[in-house]
Amino acid sequence: MILSPRDALLFSIATLNPAIAHIPVPIVEELLPPWLRDFQRDMLTAAAAYMRQGYRRVLLQSPTGSGKTKMAEAALLSTTARDMHSQFLVHRKELIRQTSKSFTGSGLDHSFIAAKFDYDPDAMLHLVGIQTLIRRMSHAFPSNLRVVDEAHHATSDTYSAILEADPDAYILGLTATPERLDGRGLDDQFDVMVPGPPVSWLIEQGYLARYEYFAPDTPDFTGVKSVAGDFAREAAAQVVDKPKIVGSVVEHYLRLAKGFQGIVFAQNRRHSRHIADEFNAHGIPAMHVDGEMNDKQRDYFDDAFRAGDLLLGVNVGLFGEGYDVPNIRYVGIAAGTRSLVNHLQWCGRGLRPPDPAVICDHAGNAITRNLGLPDSDREWSLLGRAARRAASGCNDDATPVRQCLVCFRVSYSGVKTCACGTEFPAQIRKVEVTDGKLKKLEQAEMKRRIRAQREREEKACKSWLDFKRLGEARGYPEPGKWASARCRGRSVAAARWR
Ligand SMILES: [Zn+2]
Repeated sequence: MILSPRDALLFSIATLNPAIAHIPVPIVEELLPPWLRDFQRDMLTAAAAYMRQGYRRVLLQSPTGSGKTKMAEAALLSTTARDMHSQFLVHRKELIRQTSKSFTGSGLDHSFIAAKFDYDPDAMLHLVGIQTLIRRMSHAFPSNLRVVDEAHHATSDTYSAILEADPDAYILGLTATPERLDGRGLDDQFDVMVPGPPVSWLIEQGYLARYEYFAPDTPDFTGVKSVAGDFAREAAAQVVDKPKIVGSVVEHYLRLAKGFQGIVFAQNRRHSRHIADEFNAHGIPAMHVDGEMNDKQRDYFDDAFRAGDLLLGVNVGLFGEGYDVPNIRYVGIAAGTRSLVNHLQWCGRGLRPPDPAVICDHAGNAITRNLGLPDSDREWSLLGRAARRAASGCNDDATPVRQCLVCFRVSYSGVKTCACGTEFPAQIRKVEVTDGKLKKLEQAEMKRRIRAQREREEKACKSWLDFKRLGEARGYPEPGKWASARCRGRSVAAARWR
């Protein structure tokens, strides 16, 4: 007999450990479905452990493509099997249909609280469009567990109002990038964070695809003002929406990724249409896609893309977050961003296995704004960018990179030969030329050693107190706070890959 996922869970409830069965926590290790990957199970187990300890708002950090939806479904299966109510919150209406399909595939019966979808008050699980819920706040929608997708948006007033309306509910947040665009953390919205495996580990394991990163253009964004932590869209569009750069996007696609399916990120809609037009003019079937498309247009795009009749979807941020497009082997980035959150979401769309992806950065995000390569290891913290940088012991967002001037490929700075065969000039010989430059090299070496020393010290810490003492010894202004942030980064789940 083969049981459906939900029946298997109901069956396993009978064997649930009586010692914890009475605790009304929605996520229970014993009820997690067998198809989870080990690291996903570890993360949910850590979340469940936190919840049993009384933490109601738990954030799971895990890279784009690491299966966050699957983890959410596992949590919801557990909740449903315990006969508890749950909601899955999405911030874009485009994601409702896609999520519903995935839920059905995983055996999750559900109804909706979303415009144009049926509402069944008796359903145990509701798929919720955040805008609809906020308009119906007067109505009571009880829920034991609220799962918040793309939880870095949970800082908006809309989310805060919903989460605060029902302080007794458990919250499980999911995000690849636990920071707001302006770098502030999510510590007001969540009590604890379970860090996921690094992108580099996921690539090594084959869970994410390898990639090649090219940066053929580095346009000048000097003078473009920022709004809420990122470039003002219209002003930035004036930098990149130029025939030369639009032409370069197409030219490099033809040179590096010809025939691949993929997506392109543009700065605004006009820019997006210009890029799609330019591809079509070169015989590459491409379509501008945005959140204002009606269902018919969306179906047309989905079907044509799946069938391979369309090679490219060009968009402004729509594909950055959750809107699923299969078979992506090429990511064109024609939009400038100062936000690491956006940068990683965009690059991450190309990292779905099995095939290696070509990422073409035409805005200089990795190089000129120091956002780095997508598998650069980062120490995420619930306290945001400042704490992340303090934990890494440096002010940069990423491991340093260097660029081949022959093929425009971007590599880590330790690499001696570019994949195209070009040898990088040995930095050491170059720097030996004058005393001043030699000093620079020594400084770099010193910095490296200090960093290594810091890493060793932190690895030796076994408890919060150890971290606090270390923080004091280093003269940090708030050693206790720093220690808490570091401890959050070392949960049960993290032990496996650290
Ligand atoms: Zn090269």
